[in-house]
Amino acid sequence: MRLLVVSNRLPITITEKQGLYKFQKSAGGLVSGLSVYLDSLKSSSCVENNYVWVGWPGIAVADKKKNEIRNKLLAGYDSYPVFITEKYMDKFYHGFCNNTIWPLFHYFTSYTIYDEEYWNSYRKTTEIFFDAVMEVVRPDDIVWIHDYHLMLLPEMLRKKIKNPIGFFLHIPFPHFEIFRLLPEKWRTDILNGLLGANLVGFHTHDYTQYFLHCVHRILGYEHNMGKIIINDHIIKADTFPMGIDFDKYHNAAGTKEVHKRKKELNKTLGHFKVILSIDRLDYTKGILNRLQAYNTFLENNSKWREKVILVLIVVPSRIGVEHYQEMKKQIDALAGNINGKYGNVNWTPILYQYKSLPFNPLVALYSVSDVALITPLRDGMNLIAKEFVSVKKDKTGVLILSEMTGAAKEMGEAIIMNPNNIEEIVEALEKAMDMPHEEQIKRNSALQKRLATYDVRRWAQDFIKELLLLKKEKNNFLSKILGPTSRKQLIKDFIISQKRLIFLDYDGTLVPYSENHQKAKPNKIILNILENLSADKATEIVLTSGRDKSTLEKWFGALDIGLIAEHGIWLRGDNKKWDIIKPMANEWKEQIKPLLEIYTDRLPGSFIEEKEYSIVWHYRKADADIGSLIAKELIDYLVNLTANMEIQVMQGDKVIEITNTDVNKSNAGARWVSKNKHDFIMAIGDGWTDEFLFKTLPETAYSIRVGLTQSYAKFNLRNNREVLDLLKLIIKIKKSK
Ligand code: UDP
Repeated sequence: MRLLVVSNRLPITITEKQGLYKFQKSAGGLVSGLSVYLDSLKSSSCVENNYVWVGWPGIAVADKKKNEIRNKLLAGYDSYPVFITEKYMDKFYHGFCNNTIWPLFHYFTSYTIYDEEYWNSYRKTTEIFFDAVMEVVRPDDIVWIHDYHLMLLPEMLRKKIKNPIGFFLHIPFPHFEIFRLLPEKWRTDILNGLLGANLVGFHTHDYTQYFLHCVHRILGYEHNMGKIIINDHIIKADTFPMGIDFDKYHNAAGTKEVHKRKKELNKTLGHFKVILSIDRLDYTKGILNRLQAYNTFLENNSKWREKVILVLIVVPSRIGVEHYQEMKKQIDALAGNINGKYGNVNWTPILYQYKSLPFNPLVALYSVSDVALITPLRDGMNLIAKEFVSVKKDKTGVLILSEMTGAAKEMGEAIIMNPNNIEEIVEALEKAMDMPHEEQIKRNSALQKRLATYDVRRWAQDFIKELLLLKKEKNNFLSKILGPTSRKQLIKDFIISQKRLIFLDYDGTLVPYSENHQKAKPNKIILNILENLSADKATEIVLTSGRDKSTLEKWFGALDIGLIAEHGIWLRGDNKKWDIIKPMANEWKEQIKPLLEIYTDRLPGSFIEEKEYSIVWHYRKADADIGSLIAKELIDYLVNLTANMEIQVMQGDKVIEITNTDVNKSNAGARWVSKNKHDFIMAIGDGWTDEFLFKTLPETAYSIRVGLTQSYAKFNLRNNREVLDLLKLIIKIKKSK
């Protein structure tokens, strides 16, 4: 088994000088994190060890040089390049990724640009990634796609390959009200794109829920414990908070190299309490809020003047983008202001550097800092917070962390605050500066324990493990699909038998569900199938439906078939007369109806269908989200209301049905089963009301559930088209004999 990692950037930076290419491994959150896991794959004995990383190499390459670069990357760096021209990269990366998705998913709606050209290049660039993956992928690879640049890729791949496909989003997934700001086509395509994966992973439970919520509201798919089934494709959305390489940071703090650097730093910082602020230059990071808070902190706490230093590291990022340049100017001005206002010849309140630090100097800086002040306005995870705590060998140090970061969900022992409220940051700073050592140690011990357990290796392992488990689960489902061999056997058994009985459910089995349930009238093809099957006197067909008897009579009355209406209350046998299964009361309907009417008024698009001995409340046409909420509430009410009555409340597919107890398709079906000695019985249905029948049929019967789901049935078919195909095949072969 090989792991194919796909991300926008390769973990390699290529530079070109006079036609010569230089390769250098590049760092970065995802890269260093995943590399640890990938390296552990190489040394593990259980996996065949290898991986290939597919991504953009960070440079436009001339056509004649592409082969050379591709070969070098594959041979020496386990990498496969996706060549993208600068023109595409501009509209794709700077455009749609960083000017549309990045701001929107971080709740910066006013920074979000909605540009059709950006969107088109997002799609086109994904196609280039798709081609590259298709060039390298092998049938036994696991494909793991990363981040918001490639949200359309899972679906493209799903249409072509059968490999397990995982997707992980490293930034927040926003609430529905934010996500819906994307134009209809974009938001639908993005969700469908993601649903092409088998497993879609997020940093926090909230992001996972928001995603599932959007899928429900926009595409109408419901989930069950995070799982969505679309035909024979099972998708799971789940939470995997990304960790860091705890050992690497923890151990580095004790190395000679870091000691040396700490000593140097202490020459300048040794006499002060050190507050550390370090991030990429990004409007999501709340750097300005932090500076404003530090300003107020100094103003309110004169005792800390000349005793504290804020080390402000701003890492250059997305240079050239307007909002970033503007923000840089504001940071420069504010930092200068604070230094001018409070500083003197002996003391500079802010030590400001606009650059990126390599690993060892970064660890040394974490080590000498007393407080890490991390105030993003929105951040998918925030690894700096985790790194700062991990480095602390003696477990001292205080982490102040914004509640808008994914990390805050796992780091409750930090001082958690809302960065939009400057006063709160100031209070957090005051608390941090005065926190006794014992308390720092207590808090950090708990944090370190968690960070050591849920490190980045564990994050990747958990993700891959679940992805493979889903694949196994799907294979279990697929093994129940009525495949060519069982189909052949079924038809053979049908042909040689003398007395046959076939139960067919209607909605969802012979026809797909329709928004307007009166419109799901059988077409000629279906009527032909039923007529053909029942033409043979040795074959009895029974249509088992939840619909009322007058509809069934109108649609199927002329056919020579048995009918079961209202899920088993009414039966129509050979004499073509309707019979009730047992004497039944229906006065209770008058009690229930007013309640249903209230709910119908509350939920636009819902309606009541009244049958003789049952009532159905339909909400398929209603808003998906509110519909399922109100339905849950209604069920609760109904169950309470009917506790002492002889009636049952059943939840179906976007319907709630209230009917007499003991009414089910099995009791009704038994009338036909017991009537004759059949040597071939088959029942096909798509809902849980059909399960009663599946459960009680003789061992030799063919029971088939439509849709991939847990069932008492022996076999599954994917959808109503497959049911019709099976029936047509039976007719065809029977005729040819
Ligand atoms: N980092 C670094 N040098 C620096 C500042 C940051 O190598 O001078 C690394 C840091 O170690 C961390 C990453 O950059 O792993 C930042 O990740 P985070 O999740 O905090 O923020 P992002 O930049 O991904 O939004």
